[in-house]
Amino acid sequence: RAKADGRGTYCFFRDEMAATVEARRILELDLRKALANEEFELFYQPLVNLKSGKIATCEALLRWNHPVRGTVAPVDIIPVAEDMGLIVDLGRWILRRACMECMKWPDGVSVAVNFSPQQFHQRDVLSEIRYAFEVSGLPAHRLEIEITESSLLRNTQLTHDILSQLHALGVRISLDDFGTGYSSLSYLHNFPMQKVKIDRSFLEGIDTDRPLTLLRGVARLSADLGMSVVVEGIETNEQLELISADGTVAEGQGYLFSRPVPSVRIRQLLNASYGRRMPEDQIAIVSS
Ligand code: C2E
Ligand code: MG
Ligand code: MG
Ligand code: MG
Repeated sequence: RAKADGRGTYCFFRDEMAATVEARRILELDLRKALANEEFELFYQPLVNLKSGKIATCEALLRWNHPVRGTVAPVDIIPVAEDMGLIVDLGRWILRRACMECMKWPDGVSVAVNFSPQQFHQRDVLSEIRYAFEVSGLPAHRLEIEITESSLLRNTQLTHDILSQLHALGVRISLDDFGTGYSSLSYLHNFPMQKVKIDRSFLEGIDTDRPLTLLRGVARLSADLGMSVVVEGIETNEQLELISADGTVAEGQGYLFSRPVPSVRIRQLLNASYGRRMPEDQIAIVSS
């Protein structure tokens, strides 16, 4: 019996593995076509200045409108695109599209674009970025590049050079999901970065039972090192009040302010934030 069960289990796993491999193969084929078929879309989520209440930056977040599967989230796209080496082409599209979109926003508003390590370490990353400015007309100071700690882990000297050149160009560098990885606080000190986004896991429970100590500590330290501090994942008014209390945190991002929304909708939110009226035809598109 035990033997039969064992074999059954083995067959089951083997079939399941074959199914997984097949699903992955199909996904890769679909991904290759998606760029040419214009199935990708960027959503945008505001980063709100906590003093003024105005939208300071909007983060571009990738969505895939798959003809059969519907909307596919970045967790199911980015890692596969990285494995396939497609992330460089995809990333190029994302960067240009985001820069062009930002040109439609009020002058003071920046766009934040996520870069995966492969994309950040590609040989001609600087010319890619300069070219995106050229085709869109966006000034460098309106772009923020979000990288994670994993981008800082490899090839330290090269990373340092890229960051310095971007800084010289006027682009801001933002350290995303801070506190989730191999967080060495020395990163904040050793690399030229302007912003740190404290991961939303730091917010968990602070409005109920967990003390604020850790979040406050990381925020203060980052601010003391001259970085602008963002807290991501703000969902409740209680969380907002707690993190706003001592003025250390400059910007907040989270469902409380807005979920990521399509480009037409973000323009509407920006116009509301900056007291502009929106043309009637655009309102019609938004509400339909
Ligand atoms: P991220 O850069 O940290 O982006 C924030 C993620 O948290 C987004 O998920 C956003 O929808 C979600 N989020 C924002 N506010 C809240 C909140 O209040 N509560 C909760 N529970 N979640 C919130 P999304 O869009 O699914 O993106 C996930 C990750 O995928 C991103 O994390 C980023 O690492 C990656 N990603 C997204 N777009 C791109 C892209 O264009 N390029 C690259 N390389 N990575 C991307
Ligand atoms: Mg991000
Ligand atoms: Mg983040
Ligand atoms: Mg995150």
